[in-house]
Amino acid sequence: MKIVLKIGGSVISEKDPARLADFPLTAAEVKKRGEKYMKLDAIARIAAEIKEAIDSGAFQLILVNGAGPFGHLLVKNDSPDEDVRESVRLQNERLVKELRVVGVDAVPVPPSESASFKDDKFDIGYLWDISGLLIEENKVPSTYGDVLDTGMVISGDDLVVLLADKWHADKIIVATDVDGVYTKDPKTNADAEFLPTLHITGGDNPEYALNLIGVTGGMQSKVEKLKDAAAKGVACRIINGTVPGNVKAALLGDESFGTSVVA
Ligand code: ADP
Repeated sequence: MKIVLKIGGSVISEKDPARLADFPLTAAEVKKRGEKYMKLDAIARIAAEIKEAIDSGAFQLILVNGAGPFGHLLVKNDSPDEDVRESVRLQNERLVKELRVVGVDAVPVPPSESASFKDDKFDIGYLWDISGLLIEENKVPSTYGDVLDTGMVISGDDLVVLLADKWHADKIIVATDVDGVYTKDPKTNADAEFLPTLHITGGDNPEYALNLIGVTGGMQSKVEKLKDAAAKGVACRIINGTVPGNVKAALLGDESFGTSVVA
């Protein structure tokens, strides 16, 4: 079983705008005080869950993490690309460090050094070659949302789908900060209904087709990207990575929680 796991920026870093008012906007400042905006407990917990799943499961893994404020806020501020690259690299480094502490042989694969944007599309050929070699050596490639040399942003969600395609992955697991996909944003709508399965076309419930329900913000771009992978037969799952145990259980095949995205 080949699994691409994405850990959302929302799971491993601060997301509350009120607490992000003083977020550092230069690489030097991120280096100095960026850690205060990382959810270090969640990073350690997820690293331990990945290790436990690897020890008791039979799957190969590519890990992708989202940048959260370490990317978005610097890009929004028009900080130099070099600063954004350093900022997202520092965040990924922290995740890799925790993985190594618990015994997962994770290796950073920076997209800015191994991917490009040409003829209107991403080329992850070299990033994939490196990842494939690492997997052969029983290591876990750990890549992340980044800024490429053209200034183009490649998100964690882009990488997940591109890597699953190159690798012919069986499953994509996207861990975020809500239980899955709802009919509306559950953070702002008390009447949002949870969807255990999101049929892009609605399936037996055409009123739940993706274009008819209220999927917005980060979830919208996630689902839009996943639908291509789902159409190619990859099992796509969106789970809540803030709930202890979920990442481990999902890696071990538990599909009793979260949303399946079906083409
Ligand atoms: P991540 O950083 O994990 O990639 P994002 O914050 O970008 O996650 O996207 C997840 C967010 O999408 C959720 O916190 C939620 O507020 C929002 N969202 C909007 N519409 C929906 C919906 N219909 N179902 C679930 N989440 C939604």
